[in-house]
Amino acid sequence: MQRCPRAFVLRYGIAACATGHPTGQLLKDSFAIQTPWILMQMSIRETIRDYVEDYQMGLKWSNKLVRIKFNQAFQYRIKDRNSIIAQLQEWEEPEMVFRKVKPEKHLEEIGVERCIKLIQNQSFIRFLNTAIIKSLSFTKSKIIDGIKVYNSPDFLAEKDQERYLIRINLFGYNSIEQINQDAAVFSLGMKDQTIVQYTWKNGGWFVHKTNVSQKEKNSIRRLIHLDSKQMDNILKLVRPKNNMEQVPFADSPRACMHCSVRFLCPAKHGLEEAKSEQMSLMC
Ligand code: SF4
Repeated sequence: MQRCPRAFVLRYGIAACATGHPTGQLLKDSFAIQTPWILMQMSIRETIRDYVEDYQMGLKWSNKLVRIKFNQAFQYRIKDRNSIIAQLQEWEEPEMVFRKVKPEKHLEEIGVERCIKLIQNQSFIRFLNTAIIKSLSFTKSKIIDGIKVYNSPDFLAEKDQERYLIRINLFGYNSIEQINQDAAVFSLGMKDQTIVQYTWKNGGWFVHKTNVSQKEKNSIRRLIHLDSKQMDNILKLVRPKNNMEQVPFADSPRACMHCSVRFLCPAKHGLEEAKSEQMSLMC
């Protein structure tokens, strides 16, 4: 949404509502296709979650097993991605945009290294050895002030009557303010718990523990409220006829570089040209 209101509308407005229509289905499938880099990150999370579950049952994996499990998860995701692309065959343009790939060796190495470094992290090991850890489902939403919010961390850890919410951040962080803001988001709808974030940055996992104040929670709720209002306003621009004429394009060509639906967007021939055309139509 921040990077492109149009992509947001296509994904959460049209693709979500028009699955019975061929273009709606095409959009849905296209958004399901992730880059191998993202699939590698998703496979790290999946491997760590499996590792923690087995560890809780007394099964400790060797590094060799971590590698096997990661590679299995990654290969499965790549296979799944390729099969979605194969289903798009009747559409010529997506074929040109999405290419079937094989799991790349260097991505496997990166994924395995990150998994092993996390399970060897001293703070992570302390949780594994001293807490009861439960995996949390990130597809489960919470209703915050009437708004459906997906803000689930990865684990809930309980030890010595203390409760911790653990989140594995695979995409780094820009500032401590961002870490604190993310912690406030994860804390919403939860009782007072310490938020523990393991974040990959510059070749290692950084640990941040945050206790979110009520003031910070209130401020993040206000932000969510404003975001949701903005989303509603954008979605209203297309109703009732799914008319995209007034929906703004991305603010930078960088957002278009990896956009899953570029082939369906007027910006495929250049973002600035698409914006000028839109301006002339609206005048
Ligand atoms: S191609 Fe660019 S402008 Fe079009 S939907 Fe994607 S990100 Fe937005």
